[in-house]
Amino acid sequence: MPPIQRENYRAAARAALRDATLQRALADVQGRLGPGTAAAYRDLKEGPALRRQAHDLRMRAVENLDILLERLADRIEARGGHVHFAATAADAVAYALKVVRQHDVRRVVKGKSMVTEEIGLNAALEAEGLTVTETDLGEYIVQLAGEHPSHIIAPAIHKTRAQVGRLFAEKLGMAYTDDPAKLTWAARAALRQHFLNADLGVSGCNLACAETGHITTVSNEGNIRMATTLPRVHLAFMGMERVAARLEDHDILLRLLARGAAAQRMAGYVSYIGGPAAGDQADGPEAFHLVILDNGRSRILADARFREMLCCIRCAACLNVCPVYGKIGGHAYGATYSGPVGAVVTPLLSGVHRFADLYHGETLCGACKEACPVDIDLPRMLLELRAIQVAGDAAWEGRGASARERLFYGAGAFMTCHPALYRTAMGLASRARKVWSLNGALRRRTPVLAGWTRTRELPPVAATSFRKRWQKDPEDKSPRFGAPGGKR
Ligand code: SF4
Repeated sequence: MPPIQRENYRAAARAALRDATLQRALADVQGRLGPGTAAAYRDLKEGPALRRQAHDLRMRAVENLDILLERLADRIEARGGHVHFAATAADAVAYALKVVRQHDVRRVVKGKSMVTEEIGLNAALEAEGLTVTETDLGEYIVQLAGEHPSHIIAPAIHKTRAQVGRLFAEKLGMAYTDDPAKLTWAARAALRQHFLNADLGVSGCNLACAETGHITTVSNEGNIRMATTLPRVHLAFMGMERVAARLEDHDILLRLLARGAAAQRMAGYVSYIGGPAAGDQADGPEAFHLVILDNGRSRILADARFREMLCCIRCAACLNVCPVYGKIGGHAYGATYSGPVGAVVTPLLSGVHRFADLYHGETLCGACKEACPVDIDLPRMLLELRAIQVAGDAAWEGRGASARERLFYGAGAFMTCHPALYRTAMGLASRARKVWSLNGALRRRTPVLAGWTRTRELPPVAATSFRKRWQKDPEDKSPRFGAPGGKR
């Protein structure tokens, strides 16, 4: 993936808009999952109040993370598991490599995990000479294609079955087919050997519970259960915010997670894991390690404007309703997390200035908040990020508006505070309109406004100002200025 810069987002978004296959795939996923999630919420016997309750219990957990994480770690360690608190991505990767060497691991199978994408785990393990196999079908497809996931829960949503058929023919040596059942069976047969030969299973963690001391994994394919029980060692990664205080809270979140993620009442496979296999258990790993990752989350926790972002349970419901994600897809965001959640969390984790296009690119329509199972106010935080970028904030690397922008808006503010100057400027603009608007070509004549006028016509300044019209005839009922047929 190229380094993420403003230009990449814009170029990648433009390329995505031209990709007819991607447009069909995005419309399909949003057409199915968006309305499906809304229907699944309506189905809740507690109604919308449950989402609000989930928000409150998540906020309480986030505000008590230090206590809850210690409790979780103590309970896992009491069962013989190992818990490592990683301050950074590099620290988490270093611990993973230590585990690999300690247990003499050669082959790794993985369940889908966005946190391991965030820390770049696969590349680090492969650089160590290990074989790493993704076992979620979508992740397996993007891994074979040498790509990254484009959706949090549907990683290969950007691929058609014909593309998958050609990929499997090339990589798995099978005859070409675009039959989904045959493709799935081929993946299953290939993955089965990897499961049986692996020394280490790596998973993420959808939720955790401090009261019981367990992590929870959720899947619809059963692959995570196999990846975490067949190999000798299980290494799990969790963002430090994922813990719930009580089992009762955890179960509310689990119900909402399934609805938000896939419009289901419950996922097909839910596993609670609290350590290595106990002496009387037939299945399970000999060793269990949990890495609890900070990697910028403490900074989010410390800022009351953004703390709410740590309530996120990464269900992807906001992606499935976002009009921007629905047009540009996940890769255009250029980072692990895409859609509205990515537009907030990526700048917070990786640089408010560097990722400015992400939060400026969202529409603030509010659909994400409506879809979020824990009622996170993403639009408010998108605005907070824009405010930081304009006003500057050294704590978040917000550099403030450019000199040109400050000059432009400063001049506008000065003019509106000085009526005589404002009237003179409007009079000049009204005369200039005759030159600028020849053939309606204003957009081509104003390069400084090209970002706006490339795709929109800027109406020319009216010949008669509103002020003059008002003075002349306060009862004037003609259409608004600039509207077709209005008095000019
Ligand atoms: S912000 Fe809400 S809807 Fe989006 S991924 Fe997080 S929990 Fe799901």
